[in-house]
Amino acid sequence: MTHQLPTLPYEMNALEPYITANTLSFHYGKHHQAYVTNLNNLLKDHPLANASLEEVIVKSVGKADMMGIFNNAAQVWNHTFYWHCMKPNGGGKPSNAFKKKLEETFGSYEKFCEEFKQAAVTQFGSGWAWLVVDQSGQLKILKTSNADLPMAHDCVALLTCDVWEHAYYLDYQNRRPDYIDTFLKHLINWDFVEAQLPK
Ligand code: MN
Repeated sequence: MTHQLPTLPYEMNALEPYITANTLSFHYGKHHQAYVTNLNNLLKDHPLANASLEEVIVKSVGKADMMGIFNNAAQVWNHTFYWHCMKPNGGGKPSNAFKKKLEETFGSYEKFCEEFKQAAVTQFGSGWAWLVVDQSGQLKILKTSNADLPMAHDCVALLTCDVWEHAYYLDYQNRRPDYIDTFLKHLINWDFVEAQLPK
């Protein structure tokens, strides 16, 4: 099985002015593509050559001899998930039902934004900020380094923000906090986030 670069769920310029076509052309067209290409090269003649992407991730996590496979497979998954977490005219508050869930867990929608931003800003170096559901069914904010992801921690991902510099540097340079604010205010696709809730 050959892993494919999935289609972007919107046009390359659809998230402007918040994320430019220039950023997306590199981020999706070069970075995401490179993870797909590297993964296919690493899986050539490998016992996991015919496994699904999720299976590759779960079977390679924490294994020293499969670090390259895990990193590339997880980054393929993370980026596909991230693209779907955004949409043109997104951001702001979710539906009343989901807003209530956020309020039950974090106290208020604003408090959720604060905690999510805090995780995204304080992730040292490359990584991801997440809203997840943990094993006990609780909403939780996580931050992970490099390619690490919720499924490696028995959590279900609902929302992510890529905080690798390549995600924002062309548009925001070193101003990661501004990128996170913009993500929360203008980009989150709450319909997608809510659809990830375990039934
Ligand atoms: Mn990225």
